[in-house]
Amino acid sequence: MKKGFLIIISSPSGCGKTTIREELLKLDKNLLYSISCTTRPPRKGEENGKDYFFLSEEEFHRKIKNNEFLEWAEVHGYLYGTPKEFIEKNLKEGKIIVMDIDVQGAEKIKKKKIPAVFVFLLPPSWEELKKRLTKRGTENKKEMEIRLRRAKEEMKYYPLYDYLVVNRTIPETVEEVYAIIKAEKRKKERMEEWLKENLSV
Ligand code: 5GP
Repeated sequence: MKKGFLIIISSPSGCGKTTIREELLKLDKNLLYSISCTTRPPRKGEENGKDYFFLSEEEFHRKIKNNEFLEWAEVHGYLYGTPKEFIEKNLKEGKIIVMDIDVQGAEKIKKKKIPAVFVFLLPPSWEELKKRLTKRGTENKKEMEIRLRRAKEEMKYYPLYDYLVVNRTIPETVEEVYAIIKAEKRKKERMEEWLKENLSV
């Protein structure tokens, strides 16, 4: 059987995770993206079924009850969850699936022993993160404090992850994360099918 795996990407908010994930998917068309469900309202430019599946609280709770999520968590007051069926089907087909989920979700997946590689993106410094949050339009001082405090809390989860990548520039970070994916593909246990098919080993 082919051996697919998950690439879990997390980071404290403001570290540029969404851009990195989008660039990776552009770079390698064989990578799949797991579209999450959320109860958060869409932001400007976001599309249902592309960025997220936007659900009501009621619909989300129904899916929890029907055991349709691989994991779910409450983040910033909204519910977020990973649809299980997509993941199971594509892992069986040997696909590599990129997931952009928070630290709580990563912790839940780790406990499930699903084949997964955990990547945590870091800001170069707290000063730089502050600058990035300001650029993003988080001008309100109180909101900035909340975000920074949350980022520091999220940082405590770093031991869960296999790789820590400092996001200095987008091209450098994309290259580093892609190098991780390429190396992980060549782990001997993931090459077994190829060995059998091509070298009869
Ligand atoms: P945003 O609302 O800014 O798109 O995402 C907020 C946070 O929720 C981010 O940290 C993102 O990684 C996380 N998130 C998105 N989808 C999921 C999911 O399916 N499960 C979990 N646990 N977190 C998610």
